[in-house]
Amino acid sequence: MGSVTVPPTSVTDTFTVDKVTEENIPLYHPNKTSTLNVSYHYNPEVSRYHYGALHPMKPFRLMLTDHLVISYKLYEKMDLYTPRKATKDELLQFHSEDYINFLQTITPEACKNLDELTLAKFNIGDDCPIFDGMYDYLAIYAGASLDATRKLISGMSDIAINWSGGLHHAKKFEPSGFCYVNDIVLSIINLLRVHPRVMYIDIDLHHGDGVQEAFYTTDRVMTVSFHKYNGEFFPGTGSVDETGIGKGKNFAINVPLRDGIDDESYVRLFKLIMEPLITKFQPTCIVQQCGADSLGYDRLGCFNLNIRAHGECVNFIKSFGIPMLVVGGGGYTPRNVSRLWCYETSVLNDVTLNHKIPNYLPTYDWFGPDFSLHPQLEGRIDNKNSRKYLESVKQEIMEQIRYLNHAPSVQMYEIPPDITGLTEEEDEIIKELNEEANND
Ligand SMILES: [Zn+2]
Repeated sequence: MGSVTVPPTSVTDTFTVDKVTEENIPLYHPNKTSTLNVSYHYNPEVSRYHYGALHPMKPFRLMLTDHLVISYKLYEKMDLYTPRKATKDELLQFHSEDYINFLQTITPEACKNLDELTLAKFNIGDDCPIFDGMYDYLAIYAGASLDATRKLISGMSDIAINWSGGLHHAKKFEPSGFCYVNDIVLSIINLLRVHPRVMYIDIDLHHGDGVQEAFYTTDRVMTVSFHKYNGEFFPGTGSVDETGIGKGKNFAINVPLRDGIDDESYVRLFKLIMEPLITKFQPTCIVQQCGADSLGYDRLGCFNLNIRAHGECVNFIKSFGIPMLVVGGGGYTPRNVSRLWCYETSVLNDVTLNHKIPNYLPTYDWFGPDFSLHPQLEGRIDNKNSRKYLESVKQEIMEQIRYLNHAPSVQMYEIPPDITGLTEEEDEIIKELNEEANND
C-alpha cells in the first residue's frame, strides 16, 4: 500500500477469534470524538427504478449501500433525512425549459413514435434511454442533493451525503452518460448564493464534463477532475489543456490518467495536487464526487484502486475542515459500489468499521464469498502510468497552479452576508418580491 495510511481493522488477519468473541466485536469504533454534524440524505424510492435489463447503471446499488450503512448502525452517528423531489423550478435553475418539458412528458411508449431528429436532439438512445418513472427518478436524486445543500447553507450540517447524486455528465440541454439532470451543477448554483468560492472534486473514472462546462467561465467555482483519458474514452474530454476561459482561466483542472493506476500513485498524486489547490483557492465549500467506477474490477472500469485508497482521498479532503457536500456518481459493480460508499460514510463520520460485513444484513449473500468490506481489487489491469508520465502530468498542473498566485479575483471576493437558515416561507416571500419587481 506504500504511503497510503491504512486504518486498523477491528479483526486482524494475523490471529483468529472464537465465534462468541467474534459476535461481540463491535460493528465500529470511534477514532476520536467527532464534533462534526454529518447528515445523510436518502429517499429509498430512488433505488426502485430500472434503466433496462442490459443497462449497466443499476439504481438498486443505492439500496445495497443503504442496507450496509444501516446494518453497521451508522445511523447512530448522522442526521437522517428523506428528501422531497426537486421541483420543476429547481431543475430550471440550470436546465433549459425545452429539455425539462421533454423529460416531464415523454414516456417509453411515446418514445417509440419519435423521429430520429428529436431522439438525436435530446440524445436519447442506449446510454440514456427513456424508462418508466424516469422523471420521478431524476427529481428524487436531484432533490436529495438540493436538500443536502440546504443543510450545509443553514449550518445544520458540516458534511452532507447523497449517494444517489453525482450525475456529473448531464448538460443544460440534454442527458449524457446515464445522467439526465445534473444535480451537482444545481447544488453548486444553490451554494453560490451564500458561498463566494466552491471547489468541485471528481474522482469518478470518467471526466466530470457537465460540471466543468457549466462553470468554465467563472472563477467562483474551481473544478478538479481525475479520470481516465486518451481522447477517445467517454466522454472524450478532460485533457490537461482544458483549463477554463475568460475569468475562469486556470480554474478548471484536469488530471488525465492511463489504464491501471494503483493505490499508491493515485493517492500520492491526488494529495500533491489537492493540497496546493485548496490552500490557494480557499474554497468556502467543497463538493466531492465519489464515483465508484474508479475502483478495480468495475464492470466498466480500467483502474486498480482499492476501497481504502478511494476513501483516503475523501478523508484527505475532509481533513481541511471545510463544509462538504459528498455525492456518488458512476459505479457498475453494485456490491463494490455499496462497500465503497458505506466505507466512505464511516470515514466521514470518523469511525472505523469492522471489516466483516454484519451477517444479519438482508442482502448478505451479495457480499460472498469473502463477506468483507475490503476485497482485493487491484491487479486486473496492467498499470500504464509510468513514473515519467505521472511526473509530467504533475509538472503541468503545478505550472497551472502557479498562475493562480496571480488570480486577483480569488482574494477580491468578500464573503457575502450570512443568509443562513432561510425557511421555505421566507424563500417564498423573497421569490414573490422578486416576481413583483420583475412585473413592475
Ligand atoms: Zn463514471
